[in-house]
Amino acid sequence: MFPCDPAPWDAPAPEKAGRPSAFGLLPKDLKALGCPNDADFLFSLLQRPWTWKNGAPKFGKENRAFLESVADLSLPKIDETIESSDGARKLSLALSDGRRIETVHMPRAVKNARVTMCISSQVGCAMGCTFCATGAMGIQRNLSAGEIVGQVLSVMRALGPGTSSRLTLVFMGMGEPLHNLGHVHHAIEVLTHRSGLNIPARRITVSTCGLVSGIEKLARLKPRPLLAISLNASNDAARSRTMPVNRVWNLAHLRSALDAWGLRSNEKFTFEYVLLAGENDTDEDADRLVDWLGELRKRHNLNLIPMNEHGASDFHEPAESRIQKFSDRLKSLGCFVTVRRSRGRDVKAACGQLVK
Ligand code: SF4
Repeated sequence: MFPCDPAPWDAPAPEKAGRPSAFGLLPKDLKALGCPNDADFLFSLLQRPWTWKNGAPKFGKENRAFLESVADLSLPKIDETIESSDGARKLSLALSDGRRIETVHMPRAVKNARVTMCISSQVGCAMGCTFCATGAMGIQRNLSAGEIVGQVLSVMRALGPGTSSRLTLVFMGMGEPLHNLGHVHHAIEVLTHRSGLNIPARRITVSTCGLVSGIEKLARLKPRPLLAISLNASNDAARSRTMPVNRVWNLAHLRSALDAWGLRSNEKFTFEYVLLAGENDTDEDADRLVDWLGELRKRHNLNLIPMNEHGASDFHEPAESRIQKFSDRLKSLGCFVTVRRSRGRDVKAACGQLVK
């Protein structure tokens, strides 16, 4: 069977079977459930981990009784933290059904450190990209909105930052976020809400392997996060080989969806290109990539990511000289290129290495 069914797909999240997670409820959801007091205030208690005492929100008796009667108050539990030599930390979080996800916490080494958190949207992934350890797991299930928000709150509570004004979120962990768009977008509504973490949508990036139907839907939603596109090949034959999604939505479809996105002023796409030795790293690949990007190359960022090797894939990182030549060629053809050395490689926390 083709691994990424293009039909709307919704692997069950636990909320379907039981009570919703309290951490995925907006003030309007709390009101609809019969909140006895100010729903905005209760929402803000749930969403601001730096105000919690002894690691848990203090609701007061009446609010707690209400929440316990309508929702699940458990957060994903951190059961392992591995620190990389570069300061990134890979966290394993246990969900209420015992399944596990990984989240990566990456502080920047400056005073009042800002933190980028790489978060998961699914347990496993259905997309089957052949260079990715998560893809090799297959899909187990979607995360609910409450679990997505809960992983952010759990990690903030344990490792900071102490305020959301220093937090950037990237949906680049386990899973294809647009394959779970309903829950992912609801989580973004919670994360951006002014009474909660109040993270601006421009500090949230959703990364997709090119699920065109999801890009088209997300383009019309508010709040709308930034979009990153994982390209990884310069023609359809090669892309279909390493990224099965391309057999359904090829590079022309993907380009049309980006053209229809409707960029706001100053908004940029991020293109990601995992460099696989001998597969997509020739000068001809660079030239084709520039052709496909066309005018987009003048304004948007292109990140080259040397393959982060792992046991579930036979691909390797190209030699340093090849990486440099590929990058120089793209620059000479007018692209904004960065060679991104993924953080956390030594603890298997880098792009494409997350697996449980
Ligand atoms: S690269 Fe992303 S979309 Fe592809 S299999 Fe891995 S997690 Fe899924």
